[in-house]
Amino acid sequence: MNWFPLLAALAASLACAYFRSNLRTWTIAGFAAIFTVGVLAGSHWLAIALTALAFGLLSVPLNLDDFRRKKITAPLLGVYQKITPQISATERTALEAGTVGFEGELFSGKPDWSKLLGQPKPELSLEEQAFLDGPVEEVCRMTDDWQITHELADLPPEIWDFLKKKKFFGMIIPKQYGGLEFSALAQSAVLQKLMGISGSLSSTVGVPNSLGPGELLLHYGTQEQRDYYLPRLADGREIPCFALTGPTAGSDATSIPDYGIVCKGDWHGAQVLGVRLTFDKRYITLAPVASLIGLAFQMHDPEHLLGDKEHIGITLALIPRDTKGLEIGRRHFPLNGAFQNGPLHGKDIFIPMSQLIGGADMAGQGWRMLVECLSVGRAITLPSNASGGVKMGAIATGAYARLRKQFGMAIGRFEGVEEALARIGGHSYAITALSKATAAAVDRGEKPSVPSAIAKYHATELGRAVANDVMDVHGGKGVQLGPNNYAGRAYQTAPIAITVEGANIMTRSLMIFGQGAIRCHPHVLKEMQAAQIPDYATRLRAFDRELFAHIGFAISNAARSLVLGLTFAKIGNAPGDKYTRRYYRKLNRYAANLALVADSAMLLLGGKLKFKESLSARLGDVLSNLYIASAMLKRYEDQGRPVADQPLLAWAFHDCAWRMQNALDGVLRNFPIRPAAWLLRALVFPLGRREVPPSDRLGHRVASILMSPNEARDRLAEWTYLTPNANNVVGRMNALLPDVIAAEPIERKFAKARGQLTSLDAAAQLAEAEQLGAITADERKLLERVRAATAEFIAVDDFDPAELQSAVKHGKSPVLRSVA
Ligand SMILES: Cc1cc2nc3c(=O)[nH]c(=O)nc-3n(C[C@H](O)[C@H](O)[C@H](O)COP(=O)(O)OP(=O)(O)OC[C@H]3O[C@@H](n4cnc5c(N)ncnc54)[C@H](O)[C@@H]3O)c2cc1C
Repeated sequence: MNWFPLLAALAASLACAYFRSNLRTWTIAGFAAIFTVGVLAGSHWLAIALTALAFGLLSVPLNLDDFRRKKITAPLLGVYQKITPQISATERTALEAGTVGFEGELFSGKPDWSKLLGQPKPELSLEEQAFLDGPVEEVCRMTDDWQITHELADLPPEIWDFLKKKKFFGMIIPKQYGGLEFSALAQSAVLQKLMGISGSLSSTVGVPNSLGPGELLLHYGTQEQRDYYLPRLADGREIPCFALTGPTAGSDATSIPDYGIVCKGDWHGAQVLGVRLTFDKRYITLAPVASLIGLAFQMHDPEHLLGDKEHIGITLALIPRDTKGLEIGRRHFPLNGAFQNGPLHGKDIFIPMSQLIGGADMAGQGWRMLVECLSVGRAITLPSNASGGVKMGAIATGAYARLRKQFGMAIGRFEGVEEALARIGGHSYAITALSKATAAAVDRGEKPSVPSAIAKYHATELGRAVANDVMDVHGGKGVQLGPNNYAGRAYQTAPIAITVEGANIMTRSLMIFGQGAIRCHPHVLKEMQAAQIPDYATRLRAFDRELFAHIGFAISNAARSLVLGLTFAKIGNAPGDKYTRRYYRKLNRYAANLALVADSAMLLLGGKLKFKESLSARLGDVLSNLYIASAMLKRYEDQGRPVADQPLLAWAFHDCAWRMQNALDGVLRNFPIRPAAWLLRALVFPLGRREVPPSDRLGHRVASILMSPNEARDRLAEWTYLTPNANNVVGRMNALLPDVIAAEPIERKFAKARGQLTSLDAAAQLAEAEQLGAITADERKLLERVRAATAEFIAVDDFDPAELQSAVKHGKSPVLRSVA
């Protein structure tokens, strides 16, 4: 009985921590619990008094603001200032660029779901939909990816002209400058549809609408630059590229050695102030055909022609193609992708100050400009390409797995193939939700630096996994390249998306959690800012406020992790319907886990966490999967909670939950301070690891969705080019699917009658079966039609050997040379 007051104080504290009560509420609740429970339970007065005294000694000083600040916060502030890692100027720029959206809620450990579900449903305008149904459909019809990737290694002239004429390169440019001024969602829809027919086409359209001269001029250009260049970029008179990367500066882009010296020089016959540039760039998309080159370089002013500063910093310039000394036009060959990509060089090229983006005023601001714009482009181009690619892969593979028969069965019916189909369907659902969520964030005016890194990494990684599965299900049909192969090029070029706009290993290891932890954490950035306030009294007050909010936050996350772990996350308020409520609750649990473990890692490892990339990467995985799962739930709500989509949602959700659990487990197993890891494990997994991967039964349901026409499959195929034109094998195969399914029972009837047939010829056998009455005349016609079409779809290409020897074609066979 005498322990009851203590137990009551602990229970009240746990409840207050779970519900995030403030210090005063906790103090009052603690005393109230001690006295009420003590009296009701008949505890000895001394037990009540001693418990109240101990609780009071702990809680009351914390409530005395002056005492707390001087005796507790002030020494902690001193320690904090010593141990807080120094943030480099580059990191500061990255941290300060961008906004925090719903990902901040996920990092808070207690997401406010109304903020997600209250966001408007992303929708295309009528004009955007008309563009998708008109010019986009038309250019898809004109596209022959084999011609592009093999025969021409370029888009044919009529497609270049069409893209320019219809302003595909001006989707981000406002109407006042002659552009289309499309929403991010519309850009995404356009790229997705193009990607389904040709990756080279979608990359060519994506780049001018992503980070490059157009975007940079819109934000930082002088009025004169905008008035001149934007209309020309909108209608394709200028083809832009943007050159940052060089041989020694890849991922570490701020280390570019390219330089420009401020000096006077000749520009169109006049002596003007400008910059003499020397640079060596590679991998630059559209460079071989670009007429306007955006260039990043380090600017120096040794003669102080602009002011006191000698090293001005990274600066961005626009170089017209005809500038004297520019070496441009050669091509790289990125994994048989035929979009234009190549190196460019320049030595002592002179440009006037008016060619700096934003003019001389913006000299030295280049890195900030790039980072500020990067999140927007990264949120759209690569996730959209991944989304378009996997959707086409899902539709194609579902249809192919139904029409391709082995061992007398559609291959998609074999459990091994079902597994691959389930991954294709589940990942496609996740990627498309993720891609739409980041585009919608841009349309809400956010600069989603953390979500864009999540989307870039996960959409391309899952996309690569889907490309693998698509190939495996297609067997030899996927391997043999040619006009009939719709899977091989996407598989070949998957590593390009992994590499560009921040190579994936670095994006996962450094950026997602590295930026997310500081940007999205409700207190860390504010603490850093408070610790830098010059006036001591103000600094102490601000730091005290953030520090104690942070401590309360950490205790709350520990309590929530424990309670939600012990109850298998089956309690607590959550939105959704009876199907999805449990998903929201599970995310509540993992959000609390992430907040707890991330806080502990930051507190215990401090600056060293920056170099513990594997831990940082796994924490990023938890944040990413929370974000992806939230995007999927929002998609499900936006689409009116369609019952038919539940298997896709369930598969993808369980996959996310499984990944989150494994990532947390990985952090705890590798956490260098072992006692802390044991304690965290007890709070995060009090009843062990309970998540399992999606079940085979669920996988079977997802595979079935992909293998027959149905509304869930149609929704998954949104913005996919499926018109059954001559150039679209997948569209035609998809159109045949109802007949393939209708033919299945007839094939079974035919198979039963086979024993009575005398002919060996397939066509004659059908006639015989009809004569015997095993199948009707109509059924025979259907089988003939489906078999003929199937033969066409399972066919692969073959070539005259000389056709494949491009060197022979050009009279420089390497074989002949080596013989000689
Ligand atoms: C097809 C294509 C198109 C491109 N288009 C353009 C363009 O238009 N303009 C432009 O300027 N650039 C462009 N790029 C360049 C692209 O952005 C770079 O390739 C990219 O930044 C990576 O640089 P890198 O290839 O030199 O790899 P490296 O920097 O050499 O990296 C190699 C590996 O090391 C990893 N890594 C590096 N540092 C770290 C770290 N700190 N922690 C963990 N892992 C790390 C990377 O993730 C990567 O996996 C393009 C590249 C390609 C292939």
